[in-house]
Amino acid sequence: MTSDWIDSESKYYMHVVNRQPVVIEKGNGARVWDVAGKEYLDFTAGWAVTNLGHNHPEVTSAIQEQAQTLLQTSNQFYTLPQLRLAEALVENSVLDKVFFSNSGAEANEGAAKLARKYGKIHLDGANEIITTLGSFHGRTIGMIAATGNPHYQENWGPLSPDFVNVEYNNLDEIKNATTDRTCAIMVEVIQGEGGVIIPSEGYLKGLREWCDEKKILLIFDDVQCGAGRLGTLWGYETAGVEPDVMTLAKGLGNGVPIGAFMCKEWCDVLEPGDHGSTFGGNPLATAAANATVRYMIEQDIPSAALSIGRYLRSKLEDLAQSYSEIVTEVRGVGLLLALVFQEQISAKLVAECNQLGLLLNPVRPNAIRLMPPLIVSESDCDEAVGIIETALKKVLGN
Ligand SMILES: *Cc1c(COP(=O)(O)O)cnc(C)c1O
Repeated sequence: MTSDWIDSESKYYMHVVNRQPVVIEKGNGARVWDVAGKEYLDFTAGWAVTNLGHNHPEVTSAIQEQAQTLLQTSNQFYTLPQLRLAEALVENSVLDKVFFSNSGAEANEGAAKLARKYGKIHLDGANEIITTLGSFHGRTIGMIAATGNPHYQENWGPLSPDFVNVEYNNLDEIKNATTDRTCAIMVEVIQGEGGVIIPSEGYLKGLREWCDEKKILLIFDDVQCGAGRLGTLWGYETAGVEPDVMTLAKGLGNGVPIGAFMCKEWCDVLEPGDHGSTFGGNPLATAAANATVRYMIEQDIPSAALSIGRYLRSKLEDLAQSYSEIVTEVRGVGLLLALVFQEQISAKLVAECNQLGLLLNPVRPNAIRLMPPLIVSESDCDEAVGIIETALKKVLGN
């Protein structure tokens, strides 16, 4: 019974999140089923993670095969899946080198270490990293200082020093904050957790030019925007600007935990002993990610995401037009979309949608985020928008 499981959670598990009352047992493609057998269309995709859909056969068989072969060595030795994945990422991006971690936060920690060492060697010891308000870079002690959001910072001070948070989408603020202590700027191409915030034309290009001028590193946190989510394999392709350092996680392993940070050859300042991780890049995780990335490239999943994203967006725009008294905006790129409301109805709306068989994220009190697997069909999108409309009517009381 669902309620028994929920009771067991409150007895045994730390209450760090208010969950939706849905106990998910299994998934397939764009759908999941709860313990009572009820089916849901999953427009959260494990938080922009299962980009190829739940239980993708290629990824599942790579995991099965690797589980029968080798799960773990240590970073004292070479392993084949790690090398295959490294090759796939480097050969299919503008970055030259990669290191594997276990999560997005850890990938960003690694990128920050690389930037600080770069500053130490090439910028006279500069160690400040500028990040933006409304960003999300993870929950480690280091990354809460990078994440420009008081909610993630307030109980855990003193914050790790030398992360400077400035307004997003404001080039002047970045310029004013840049000093001879600055070694890097880290931003998301689109702020995901911040509410699907798209910077204006020219912002990311402006950052690129500024970093070139100041000879500091431009880091793109592509943890959410990467792995096809925006309709391009990596976020920088959508941005039209190349970063010096890029971090990945979420969709990289289609559900198997893995992160990565990548850099250009010229800023690869790390040397033996500088960085490491017991599990980072282990054979199981890298075999899954290798299958994910190669399938994504071979089948051109990003292009499919772009076109189905346009379809979903047009349906949402129709909905917005019909309910213009409450829906104020549809925003996003590819399959990272948000529907924005006049009022703070997203929690209620998402609860109604759950009941009606659609999983969504109330990313802001007045906005819901849609981040389905990149393999959703037009009829899945029709169904989802239909459910949102029904839920909206209920919330509005008509
Ligand atoms: C989710 C996310 C992270 C953190 O990833 P974890 O794997 O939860 O540590 C970092 N940056 C961005 C942009 C994210 O969306």
